[in-house]
Amino acid sequence: MAGGIVGEFFDLKAGTEAELLAMQCGDFYEFFAEDAETVAAELDLKVSQKSSHGSAYPMAGVPVDDLTPYVRALVERGYRVAIADQYETDGGHAREIRRVVTPGTLLETGDADAQYLAALVDSEGTYGLAFADVTTGRFHVATAADLEGALTGLYRFDPVEVLPGPEVRADDTVLDRVRSNTDATLTLHTAEAFAPGRARHRVDEQFGQEAVDSLGVDDPAVRAGGAVLSYIEETGAGVLASMTRLQRHGAGEQVTLDGTTQRNLELTETMGGEAEGSLRSTIDHTVTSAGRRMLTAWLTRPIRDRAELGRRQAAVEALTEAAMARDRLREVLDGTYDLERLASRAASGSADARELRAACETLRALATAAAVVAETPRLADSPLAAVLDRPDREAAADLADRLDDALVEDPPGTVTQGGLISPGHDQTLDAVIDDHEAVKTWLEELPAREKRRHGITHLTVDRNKTDGYYIQVGNSETDTVPAEYEHIKSLKNSERYTIPELEAREREILRLEERRHELERELFERLRERVADRADLLRSVGRALAELDTLASFAVHAVRNDWTRPELHEGQALDIEAGRHPVVEQTTDFVPNDLSMDAARRLLVVTGPNMSGKSTYMRQAALVTLLAQVGSFVPARHARVGLVDGIYTRVGALDELAQGRSTFMVEMQELSNILHSATERSLVILDEVGRGTATYDGISIAWATTEYLHNTVGAKTLFATHYHELTSLADHLDRVENVHVAAEERDGDVTFLRTVREGPTDRSYGVHVAGLAGVPDPVVDRSREVLDRLREEKAIEARGSGGEESVQAVFDLGSGQFRAGGADAGGSDGASSSDTATADGGAGPEDGDGSRDPLRDTYGEDVEAVLDALAELDVNETPPVELMSRVQEWQRELE
Ligand code: ADP
Repeated sequence: MAGGIVGEFFDLKAGTEAELLAMQCGDFYEFFAEDAETVAAELDLKVSQKSSHGSAYPMAGVPVDDLTPYVRALVERGYRVAIADQYETDGGHAREIRRVVTPGTLLETGDADAQYLAALVDSEGTYGLAFADVTTGRFHVATAADLEGALTGLYRFDPVEVLPGPEVRADDTVLDRVRSNTDATLTLHTAEAFAPGRARHRVDEQFGQEAVDSLGVDDPAVRAGGAVLSYIEETGAGVLASMTRLQRHGAGEQVTLDGTTQRNLELTETMGGEAEGSLRSTIDHTVTSAGRRMLTAWLTRPIRDRAELGRRQAAVEALTEAAMARDRLREVLDGTYDLERLASRAASGSADARELRAACETLRALATAAAVVAETPRLADSPLAAVLDRPDREAAADLADRLDDALVEDPPGTVTQGGLISPGHDQTLDAVIDDHEAVKTWLEELPAREKRRHGITHLTVDRNKTDGYYIQVGNSETDTVPAEYEHIKSLKNSERYTIPELEAREREILRLEERRHELERELFERLRERVADRADLLRSVGRALAELDTLASFAVHAVRNDWTRPELHEGQALDIEAGRHPVVEQTTDFVPNDLSMDAARRLLVVTGPNMSGKSTYMRQAALVTLLAQVGSFVPARHARVGLVDGIYTRVGALDELAQGRSTFMVEMQELSNILHSATERSLVILDEVGRGTATYDGISIAWATTEYLHNTVGAKTLFATHYHELTSLADHLDRVENVHVAAEERDGDVTFLRTVREGPTDRSYGVHVAGLAGVPDPVVDRSREVLDRLREEKAIEARGSGGEESVQAVFDLGSGQFRAGGADAGGSDGASSSDTATADGGAGPEDGDGSRDPLRDTYGEDVEAVLDALAELDVNETPPVELMSRVQEWQRELE
């Protein structure tokens, strides 16, 4: 074991869970051994060798003042970094870990987005969640009735670090689901922190007994909350004081939006993972980071509180109509400081004077904004006035005055070098400043005086670290210096001297400087504490300004894109007149479409050729609903939106599967979640569900799903499918209707009209598109033949190489089996297109007589082998791509 400094490093490292340790050694923080190599590789630092007790260890270091950006970069890469500070003791110095910086406790974030630290506990199948943003002091808790609900909650807050509780850790399946639902770092925080008694005590201490009571003492959310609090304390972020309000997220008022749906609807990033092209980036015109954060929170957490939505809408409407005032308000907001973040930084003691100065300007912005609103009748009469009245404006003005009074106009970025506090703020400081300034003036005047007195022209007075203050005289004049000049150093072209008077002033100036810096720092810290005490005020002003920014952003987008205020109601109907897709309309000449759904017309089967616009149409319905439920205007000529309690989507499109983004199992898990969770007040979007498996399975699942949604769940559902069979459901189920996206075929070209019409499509354009794409004529012609045959007979024949007419086997879609002989394939069982399955879903494919003997007799062993392999293949477990290659293989074997 190494001794000395490296030994100390190892000892400290052994006592922390952090992956990396930065240990202060004088003016540097050093990483040793493996840590040095990791850090060097991540951050491009130089590694040197440190010899210690006969061994050499890799060492990498950063200057003390530069630690923050390095730690931030490491933490953003997912590392937890322990920081051991050096402090003086009687006998020398010692080191101690006082802070562990982790993704969820990083205060110096460079990102405007919320940064949640989460805990998840499982209490006999009920889940408790807590989310804390140390950068703003926000603290939320939620309870979920099952794992799906818990995962939805996690996805909603998108935490950067998750503390799984003891039960969650013990269950691999749960842990895997958590991992696949978040990019967060998982941290194993001590199990005791999750213990009900201890956690309750922590929550009580932080938020008061009422908070615990309002949650219910047995609520697992209390356990999660307690664990988060203890973790924040243990990592030493020092921000607990800024967490004053516990917000509960009930299932009641929110709209369920699971992770899959957020991804599918591309709310904050596209399927490809880009921010650009997402709904948020399209509609975001906010001018502050707090506004942007609020916009994101609203978009990812829509609500169904009609009164609140009505207020937001009315404010947006007023802002759309008051163009000048809107511009003026956005100017006022632009450049304001993030007060929510400041509240945390003041509490943790990391805010500097520039930040407090900026906070002062921002507090003043509230008054300016309120004045603009008051002067504009259209706004004064709107709910916007109430938004700006929410914070205590008088207290805000007081705090701004106080900051104004204390701080100089343009303070420096460091708090240790003085120059922060404005004159007149504190008498003691003023006296020191006066003395300090007097000595400084004396020093400034010294060169002129000495030049005059001794007739020397090349004389300067300056100071440096080694020599202190000195008088410097050029070589040509050193003969004329008076005797009282005491020589201290020779340089190439000059000599340095000092005089007793200068030495005395030097001592004085150092004393005064130190005193001044100390006093200023003390005053500043007191001021910062006072600001930290007003965390609630800062947060409420910050929130009001952020809300103004978000509402103005909605208004800007509405005006620029001709969006309208949707009518909200509690009924089931969703009526969209000339609706558009909010993102696609930005880049295309969009063809608007209508949509009409209600309790009597609640399930629409959407058909149409590939690429005709089915997905776009359905997503548009979901996005219009979502936008309406965040309080925004919507892309439509007119919309009436019945408030929903959840939006669920499932996309089973083949390209998703092929790109490995999904598997059939995942598709079915998601479908299962929808069928369990959706209610008659939900909106469900299914895009090609069942495509990840064999056709027969797929149709059956799609069919049964449709029936279940229609009969049992009763959710408003849009279901796009390429299974034409489903269109016949409309004949059997009352509330199912068909719509299709029209396409036109003219002169051999398919033109997509992008118009949605009533009724099913009459044909599939797939074969046609194959032709357009250059698939050889014989294949296209043959496909057409097969297609026609299928339409007529519901049977696919497998064709051998023998010649045009030699049909070798017929796969009967009615029975799901091969039939012998082809000549009579059409007539025998006369299956018609609508009775392949019944609307009740009762009748599966009939079993026929089950014998394959005639085939064996007729076609021999090769064919038999293929048929056996086919019979054994488990379609549900075989990925589609593999299925295709197996079929190709069999085709080869049959040849
Ligand atoms: P499908 O789901 O039928 O395969 P998509 O919805 O993916 O088709 O649409 C295919 C393309 O058509 C998209 O790239 C989209 O930009 C364009 N599109 C869809 N609907 C419209 C519309 N109403 N107006 C203009 N372009 C549209």
